[in-house]
Amino acid sequence: MTAQTLTSPTNNHQADGKIQERKATRADQMYKFIERLYPICRSITGEGLMETLHQIREHIPVQIYQVPTGTKVFDWEVPREWNIKDAYIMNSRGEKIIDFSNSNLHILNYSVPVCRNVSLTELKEHLHTLPEHPDWIPYRTSYYKEDWGFCVSYNQYKQLTDDRYEVHINSTLENGNLTYGELFIPGESQEEVLLSTHICHPSLCNDNLSGISVLTFLAKALSAKKLHYSYRFLFLPGTIGAITWLSVNESRTGNIRHGLIASLLGNGGAFIYKKSRRGDTEIDRIATEVLRLKSINYKVVDFTPYGYDERQFCSPGFNLPIGCLSRSHYGQFPEYHTSADNLNFIQPDALESSLQMYLDILLMLERNKKYINMNPKCEPQLGKRGLYDGIGGDNHSKEFQMALLWVLNFSDGNHSLLDISKRSGIAFELIAQSADRLEEAELLREVQTFTSLFNSSPYSLAR
Ligand code: ZN
Repeated sequence: MTAQTLTSPTNNHQADGKIQERKATRADQMYKFIERLYPICRSITGEGLMETLHQIREHIPVQIYQVPTGTKVFDWEVPREWNIKDAYIMNSRGEKIIDFSNSNLHILNYSVPVCRNVSLTELKEHLHTLPEHPDWIPYRTSYYKEDWGFCVSYNQYKQLTDDRYEVHINSTLENGNLTYGELFIPGESQEEVLLSTHICHPSLCNDNLSGISVLTFLAKALSAKKLHYSYRFLFLPGTIGAITWLSVNESRTGNIRHGLIASLLGNGGAFIYKKSRRGDTEIDRIATEVLRLKSINYKVVDFTPYGYDERQFCSPGFNLPIGCLSRSHYGQFPEYHTSADNLNFIQPDALESSLQMYLDILLMLERNKKYINMNPKCEPQLGKRGLYDGIGGDNHSKEFQMALLWVLNFSDGNHSLLDISKRSGIAFELIAQSADRLEEAELLREVQTFTSLFNSSPYSLAR
């Protein structure tokens, strides 16, 4: 991907050239951020994770937390910290035929240290390949079973001859810490929207550097806005990071009202929204509606107990209203968890349109309020408040007046603006504008939702 490509205007439909230019710049920044993160060898613990969080901190003031090895986190335990300096396989002629410095995918992630001379037969027991894509290196891990290994392309594997091989893995697996990042952006309300992504994969772009980049720039964009909700961004190592965060922060989960898990956002595929376990929460309805309005091809799928960290946030003991918005199916594209998920597999424009979709969803969430009609007995007289066009205007003003009537009638404290939009068939934006006008005319009052001032049991979240 050349710099020229990055700075060319995006093919969005904005008429305003300045907006196009600004968007292309942000797309470029998001892609460049991924280019910087790409070489780092990450895992679920270790220096690569810390380095990644420091890079995120150059953009947003993320707090870095550490939880020591051995800490009990529900049914799990924080593992020992893994770090790696070097790894290679050398043949009897002294040639390094596989070298970690060429690709950090070459090492089985979490390999224990090894320095041995082995036969071809023994070596092959520790090699992982992908015969269906003979040029690609697979990404494999062994976090919870002590093992060592190398991941090589099938073509490299086929070239191995009967020889003695020196295997060298200069890694450490020692007591240390699990590291994660958290950013809290306060809004008017203590009610929170949780946005989380995993940060544990080495040189892989769509899964998962795209999620890191989109959430970093989403946090930046939200920080510049006046917000109703408070936003909590989590940058966690997958699975064990989410389990650790939930264990350490269990008492604070009572304020989480909505959430999204970000992943697979760098490739221009159709959006896929995976619903929360509850399946009918506000974030489920809003994400579905925004995709319907803004996207030509998209899919909405039900919750399954597999995938990313929605598995933990939506486990029955938490059952949080958190969905997952991505652009590819977990595990269902050939490049998934291989060296082909590289910088060529993602595009700046796809990152930008992913970020924009997240913003559109969150901004609808911010505006999706419930109101009470302050004049509920018969219709209020709109004309004397300048809200009724007695002469009869164009179609737009007719639709606006219909929106006023719908909002007035259904603002009984039970219907949100999205409910009213869906029931009336009038665009959400127009319904929201009419609610603003009615509130200015003191015909509506916003319903203040209950905000937890104490730490409630997560089980009490079930509504
Ligand atoms: Zn993955």
